[in-house]
Amino acid sequence: MELACLDLEGVLVPEIWIEFAKATGIEELKATTRDIPDYDVLMKQRLRILEEHKLGLKEIQDVIATLKPLDGAVEFVDWLRERFQVIILSDTFYEFSQPLMRQLGFPTLLCHRLNIDERGMVAGYTLRQRDPKRQSVLALKTLYYRVIAAGDSYNDTTMLGEADQGILFHAPQNVIEQFPQFPAVHTYEDLKKEFIKASNRELSL
Ligand SMILES: [Mg+2]
Repeated sequence: MELACLDLEGVLVPEIWIEFAKATGIEELKATTRDIPDYDVLMKQRLRILEEHKLGLKEIQDVIATLKPLDGAVEFVDWLRERFQVIILSDTFYEFSQPLMRQLGFPTLLCHRLNIDERGMVAGYTLRQRDPKRQSVLALKTLYYRVIAAGDSYNDTTMLGEADQGILFHAPQNVIEQFPQFPAVHTYEDLKKEFIKASNRELSL
């Protein structure tokens, strides 16, 4: 049996923090792990900015609800789910992803949680576990599933390495060069072909 594991942001939906920063015009919120490599430092900064601008979960979700999955993502997920059991492995938060997951038909999602206080403000967050994407693939393999995984960035590479086949999708050039062992594609049509190639079953487009 085979499972498909997909990253969410950059693969099926836009980068949520970046889009939120654009929508609110808060420049400082555009920082990512590329600017501030320590995730805790980065998240504390984000939460401080949200507090300063009095943006609670409701305001954030209202903005995120205006976002759309990437062009072709809904059709791609439908295509994939007819051929594989699909699990989304993401470093986002359930509370943020909800409006976008609704548009994708709520496929199974493993990600982190936000801690919301009594005022509805984001007080903190709870990470699911360390190296969560790789750990998930490892766990699924103990169920004797073959895992084919696709992601776009550094936080996906341990997942891609643990999978029976990893695929880079929409990855920046530096990631493609640093991880030449993974095929790299940029359109959903090519991604479908990579999934078919990686499968040990006779599948067609
Ligand atoms: Mg991503």
